[in-house]
This record gives sequence, C-alpha cells and structure tokens, in this order.
Amino acid sequence: MEERRVRVRFAPSPTGALHIGGVRTALYNYLFARQHKGDFVFRIEDTDSNRFVPGAEEYIIESFRWLGLQFDEGVSFGGDKGPYRQSERREIYKKYVDRLLEDGKAYIAFDTPEELESKRNEIQNFQYDARTRMQMRNSLTLTKEEMEALIADGTQYVVRFRVEPGIEVHIDDLIRGDVRIMSDIVDDKVLYKSSDELPTYHLANIVDDHLMEITHVIRGEEWLPSAPLHVLLYKAFGWEETMPRFAHLPLLLKPEGKGKLSKRDGDRLGFPVFPLEWHDPKTGEVSSGYRESGYFPEAVINFLALLGWNPGTEQELFSLDELVSLFDITKCSKSGARYDFQKGIWFNHEYILRKSSEEIAQLFAPIVANNGVEESMERITKVVSMMKDRVNFVKELWDLCSFFFIAPTEYDEKTVKKRWKADSALVMSELATVLEGIDDFTVEGQEPVVLAWVEERGYKLGDVMNAFRLALVGIGKGPGMFDISAFLGKEETLKRIERAVEILK
Ligand code: GLU
Repeated sequence: MEERRVRVRFAPSPTGALHIGGVRTALYNYLFARQHKGDFVFRIEDTDSNRFVPGAEEYIIESFRWLGLQFDEGVSFGGDKGPYRQSERREIYKKYVDRLLEDGKAYIAFDTPEELESKRNEIQNFQYDARTRMQMRNSLTLTKEEMEALIADGTQYVVRFRVEPGIEVHIDDLIRGDVRIMSDIVDDKVLYKSSDELPTYHLANIVDDHLMEITHVIRGEEWLPSAPLHVLLYKAFGWEETMPRFAHLPLLLKPEGKGKLSKRDGDRLGFPVFPLEWHDPKTGEVSSGYRESGYFPEAVINFLALLGWNPGTEQELFSLDELVSLFDITKCSKSGARYDFQKGIWFNHEYILRKSSEEIAQLFAPIVANNGVEESMERITKVVSMMKDRVNFVKELWDLCSFFFIAPTEYDEKTVKKRWKADSALVMSELATVLEGIDDFTVEGQEPVVLAWVEERGYKLGDVMNAFRLALVGIGKGPGMFDISAFLGKEETLKRIERAVEILK
C-alpha cells in the first residue's frame, strides 16, 4: 500500500474551557504531525447542541496561539477538506447515515425514553443489542406500514448501529498494542437523532476522520472504550484499508491520591488546570489559567510533553524543535501520568534562568512602571540580572526587588532586634564617611576600601554588613551588599544610611 501522508487532528467539543489534558493531547498530535512532515487539523465537534458553550471555540484557538502550536488546517485556519465545524456538515452525515440504513447496517428506532426506562427496570444490565433489539420498537420489529405511519406523524426517532455479535474486534493501538474486544459488549449505539437532525459524536467522528484523510487518531484514554465501535463503523462503511491507527494516551492523574486530575484538585492545591483564564459564561465563575498565572508557554509545553512520555535519558529541558525530533508515540506509557504541578513551577523557573535578563526585563518593566517608578530599561535589566535566579515567576520580582527602586520607609522589626546593635548607628555613620570618600563607586571600587576600614577598626565584618543591609534594604535579605550600593549610587546609599541612623539610632 502506498504510504499515506500523515494527517492527525485535534477535535475538541466546545463545551467549556480546554482542560490541560486536552492541551497535552493536542501537543502530542502536533509533535507527531511535525516529525512526520504531516498535517495537523483542527476540527470542532459540536454536534451535541445541549453542551455547546459560547466562547469556547475562540478560547481554544487563543490557547494554541499563545502556546505557539500551529494548525495547518481547520476551523479558522482554512483548508480544502472543510467545513471543519461539525454543525456545518449535517448533509454530509445524513448521506452516510442513509447509506448504513440502505445496507441494513443500521436501523431506525422509535423507543421513547419511558419505554427504554421500563426495559431497564425489567431486564438487569439492559443493553440495546442483538439480544434485545427484537423486543424493541424499531424498523426490525415494525411493519413497513407502521413505520411509514410513525414517520408521517412526525414521530421522533433515532438511527442505531446494528452491531453483529460474536466478532472479535482488534484495535491496533500504537501505545497499547493489539487490544481485542468481543463485539457482544458493544451496544447498538445511536448514530443519528431526528430531533435535531444531527449525528452523534461517534458517527460524525468516523465520517470526518475518513473524509479528512486522518491517518492517526491520538487521543485521551477516556476514548478507548469507544474504539471498538469506531473500528466496527469503519468496517461497516468498507473503509478498513484507510482506517487510522490509534494511540490512546495515558490519563493525567491527581497530584496526590487516586483518580484522574480534576479542576477541584487545581482549586484545592492552587494550580491552574486551564491554559488561559476562563470566565464561565453561565455561572460567571473565573478559573485561573497558566498564561495569567505567569507561566511561559515554552515551560507549559515542556512540562506537558513529559507527562506520559520521556526520552529515556536524564534530559528534562527541551525546545519545541527538540521535542519534535525526539518524541516517540510508541514510547508513551500505558499507565497514568501523575500531574506533578510543582514540576510545572520548576520548569518555569528553569526557563527564567535560561532567558536573557533583557527579555525578562521587558516583562518586568510594566510592573515597575505600575508601581509608580520611572527607571531606565538598562537599570531594570541590571536588577533582573541580580535577582532572576530567585524567582519562579516574573510577577514575584517586584516584592523582592522594590528596594532597588524605592528606599525603605520601615525596617523589619525582627531584623532590627537581631542585627542593629548598640553601636550600629555609630558604625554606620563612620561607614557613610568612608563611602563618601570613594570616587569609583563600583563593586570593585568600594569593596577593598570598606574591607580595609573594617579591618583597621577591628569591627566584625558580619555585624557591619548586616547593619548596612538593614539600612539600604529594610530587611535582612537580598543580593551582595556592594551590588546593591553600586546600583543605588553614592548619593542614594548615603541618604539611606543617614535615614536609618536617624530612625533606628
Ligand atoms: N470530541 C472529542 C473530544 O472532545 C474527540 C475525541 C477524539 O479525539 O476522537 O475529545
């Protein structure tokens, strides 16, 4: 058989914010498409009008724009196999539903919800299938006249897939190997509903994967139970030859305990489960997003890439290009991947370290300005270069760095008690005089002079530096003292010492 061009799709239903697990699914599809020089298609599966949420589609598109994962075709991206929104493909599906009906591979059923309910009460573990379908109200049990009368009356009906029992269904899964299931456990799934003239997920999904020439279906483990039905549908249509290969990704598990990751875990432990902040249009609830929480898209991608796959080496930091070349779908794990959100924070920290101070300063500058401080980009960059290794997020910089820009007005009580000794005021006044005499106010210019003076006076270096720090910073922490004084400059340094001496005496 001729090698087909690799085509994968990400096919979310617009039912709300995109869950982070969906982002991982899309990422793996993207990596697979790029490494095979194939296409990455974006399809919207919106055949369930009850679950449609306005704004969800735009949200999903914006999420991938932020992450830098580009689609080749699909909703909002164009392409010659559209429309890519399932609600715009009604006529196409209708044709394929009719084809199954004509071939006797599907049938029409009129059972009302009440009738189905009473069957469920009557028969334990009732399933609509080969064993029970002849007891139901459908085109297999009704006469032609009865059928026509019902339809003429406008009675609502569904189309069900006629699953033949006793067939061993093989799912050829790139991650899980050959999964075998007997067709007997598959029920006669509803493929189409007359009430909204729309197919169900299963039919639309298969028809579209076929028409859009999808070669690989990479999706979450939660879809594995649907796979046997999907394989049977491909067979029913006679599309075995071009049936996509499957890869069902491992579940994302809670950070602790059992079960799959949920939004509640994020709320409880304080981490986002959505790529972007989400405003629920129905409840008005606002949920945090990775973007608004200050994560870099590269960090999110790097973090997600390793949730279910690893390269088999110690390497943890990967660019998107490296991931494209190293990723191997067949090496994904079968068992669930624990969602270690702390690791996500660690990745962000690593990306801060790897980014230049100039780049971080660009992000920090607006925060500085918002705090009413006017500073040159050069000086902001200098501060960033001294402090960026101490934070996980850019937004944490201000609290740590504000003293560079604003003189302390208060002095931390505990530090004063511990570090400001009886003679500190005197020693600091002396230090001010020493500093005043230094022309070269760089770190190299100050350090030897101050150290010589400490030595000559027989002071304890630790005591002097602690008091000096308290005077300039207001607390007991920060980078090297001469880095701080050099940044502040002579005038500001002397002013701060003078003020501390006056207030703390
Ligand atoms: N619409 C399904 C979803 O929301 C797609 C599942 C699949 O990829 O087949 O995830």
